[in-house]
Order: sequence, then C-alpha cells, then structure tokens
Amino acid sequence: MGLLDKKYHDSNIIIVSLESALNWARKSSLWYEQFGLACCAIEMMATAASDYDFDRFGIIPRSSPRQADVMIVAGTVTMKMASRIERLYEQMSEPRYVISMGSCSNSGGPYWEHGYHVLKGVDKVIPVDVYVPGCPPRPEALLEGFLKLQERISNETIIEPRETEQESTEEEKEPIEVE
Ligand code: SF4
Repeated sequence: MGLLDKKYHDSNIIIVSLESALNWARKSSLWYEQFGLACCAIEMMATAASDYDFDRFGIIPRSSPRQADVMIVAGTVTMKMASRIERLYEQMSEPRYVISMGSCSNSGGPYWEHGYHVLKGVDKVIPVDVYVPGCPPRPEALLEGFLKLQERISNETIIEPRETEQESTEEEKEPIEVE
C-alpha cells in the first residue's frame, strides 16, 4: 500500500501548461549516448551501476546516437577521436545535449601543456551544455551535472514563439558549470 493510495479517487485533475508537461517528460527520460574515451568512463559506468542508479532518473544508455538525447563526453578527446565525436553528435536528433565530463574533456586536463595529440576542450568541436569538473569527477558530480541539465530542459521554450518574441528567445544558451 503506497502513501498515495486512494487519495485521488474522486476528481483527479491536474492543470498544467502543455509546455511544462512536455518538458517534464523530456527531462525524465534522458537517454545518453553510450561510449567512454578514457578513465572518466569508469566513473560514468559506476554512476550507472546499482549504488548510484542512473535509471531512477530515467537516464538510460543507448548504443545509437540516433536514439540518444544527450552525449556524455567522458575522457580524453584525442585529435583522432575529435572528428568521430563530431560525427556522432551530428547523427543525434534535435533537441540534443552534451555533458562534458572531467578535466580532459573540459580543457585537455593533464595534457593541457604537453599533449600535442589532445584536443584542449571538446567545445572546440561540439557545443557543451554542462561542464562537470574533476579528474575524474565522482559519480555524485555527474549526477549533479544531469540535475543541472534537467533544470535547463524544464525552463526551455519548445512551443514556437510568436514573431514579436522571436529575438528574445533566440539568445544563445550559456553553458553550466557544476561546482
Ligand atoms: S580527466 Fe583525469 S580521469 Fe578523466 S580522462 Fe582525463 S586523466 Fe582520466
């Protein structure tokens, strides 16, 4: 017997805007593109395992970019991988989001100075919505990154704006940094 049992059996009406309902559905079913580039990927896998349980947020892995809503760039982005990441991103359908996980993906990390083979930030090839700092970030930090992304999705305008409002809604999204 749950807490809500028989609480709403008479008139169960909820009034909410269509946009809020759609955004709630979108933020509650974020499917992420499943791949890892280096050590940060181990923490990403730990976040999906039973202790942290990504699934309870509706966050589940997909092996095809065509069915994914969000890409987690987890690890070192080498020059060789950069073009592959870009291609995978382009194969994702809109609206699509990117979480940059860890120092390597954010800025080149320990390879910042001498890593001639490492891209100094994945945002040089694809737009990033949330930066998660750390080397590697703990699972809690990645979860926090997803909560920030969910917040962003909740506040998004998805209904076509009227012409007069167009300019203000076309403002560029600022990336979020997890503290
Ligand atoms: S940020 Fe640190 S843990 Fe993550 S991929 Fe780079 S070196 Fe590895």
